[in-house]
Amino acid sequence: MSRNHERILIRNAYLMTQDEQLGEFAGDVLVADGMIQEIGGDLQDDHARVIDGTGSAVLPGFIDTHRHNWQGALRNLGPAWTYEEYRSRIQIGLGQYFEPQDVYIGGLAADLMSIDSGVTTVRDESHISNSPEHTDAAIAAHWESGIRAVFDHGWPSTEAEEWQFGSARTHPDDIRRVRNEVLTDDAARVTLNAMLRGPELSTFEVAKHDIRLARDLGLRISMHVGLGEWGARQQAIRRLADAGLLGSDMTFIHCCTSTDEELRMLATHGATASVASALEVFMPGLGQPATNRLLAAGVRPSLSVDTETIVSGDMFSVMRAALAYQQLIVAGAAGPMDRVPGLPTFDAADLLSFATIEGARACGIDHRTGSLTRGKEADLIMIRLDHPNLLPATDAAASIVAGGHAGNVDTVVVAGRILKEGGVLKGREAIFEEAASSRDRLFRAAGFGLPSASRP
Ligand SMILES: [Zn+2]
Repeated sequence: MSRNHERILIRNAYLMTQDEQLGEFAGDVLVADGMIQEIGGDLQDDHARVIDGTGSAVLPGFIDTHRHNWQGALRNLGPAWTYEEYRSRIQIGLGQYFEPQDVYIGGLAADLMSIDSGVTTVRDESHISNSPEHTDAAIAAHWESGIRAVFDHGWPSTEAEEWQFGSARTHPDDIRRVRNEVLTDDAARVTLNAMLRGPELSTFEVAKHDIRLARDLGLRISMHVGLGEWGARQQAIRRLADAGLLGSDMTFIHCCTSTDEELRMLATHGATASVASALEVFMPGLGQPATNRLLAAGVRPSLSVDTETIVSGDMFSVMRAALAYQQLIVAGAAGPMDRVPGLPTFDAADLLSFATIEGARACGIDHRTGSLTRGKEADLIMIRLDHPNLLPATDAAASIVAGGHAGNVDTVVVAGRILKEGGVLKGREAIFEEAASSRDRLFRAAGFGLPSASRP
């Protein structure tokens, strides 16, 4: 029996299914052939490995709909950086010095910390296409880690200034090779999307060309929009809608300064959104999380980490940041775009759905994952509610959102394969030593120094 096709029976857990029909109940989940074979009460299976779910909640794994995985070895460098500091130090400063091996190491470090904290799917926004070898290294990390990955092929971080803000360069042609030779199977664990710059980061002619390219290749599209004052001026969503290009195959990342009218256009066209709430509240220059404005427009957003150089890569932090900003709105202390009477609010249960099923919808994979539903692929996590930081766990959703952390994530299963068990992450721990070496090499190449006292 291959380990990919292990039979697993989780018994007596509190199932937070994120499936509208099933809701939440105490029961069992049977995983076989990589799929959720059965979900219900008192399941029996003589051949399955049994995991006792007593005192635990079982959920579909978290889905991070936007992370720049290549920066995994550069995590936690600048929690107080502005957008300009991030751009100048990472995208412009270090990105050009990345070798394929650095992309692989950073990507694997990002995947492993994701799995450890209960993320089972990551949409890797890969603007490190410095060469075909860089792209192949980023993809190789996802095969190695065991995570489910939607790999969004992006632009290079060499000549970063030439590729952004009014760029006249069209999307790198290597995406055709990746589509035709590397990620050809849309039913695989790692699949391909296109990370496009869109009208905010390239000329409109280039944006049109790139969208056509992605659609010709049968790829879904992600795009960063609504970034600070620049986004408010550009109004990318409106211009795409006016040109007949806005579609349900598109996910718009941030949308912080997109207008309310633009957000309603997302709903009308069935497009989706990714709110990087932690990053947006920590990093001055982008604008504020649009979670509540999106709800008002009729869009239930997904959530994302963005860059680990600034914020923690776990979804607990992302959910709490979204909630923290909402409470500023409620207090009347939010930014001007949110000082609108009657903005809808969300609660802990909503946040769990944003972090799971809405993430699957944003990635176009909700038929495969995102809820505990019979016949879907088995991507699930078990969170111990009987740990000291969560007991007595009066309300499961509120407990997870308010107090949860990676240490409470006991078991992580992706496509039926156990990647964390009994609180212990499986996989290549040595990658974190390699991450330190990679960081050192990159810092030397870029002429960056670190005070030796701050280094382990
Ligand atoms: Zn981003």
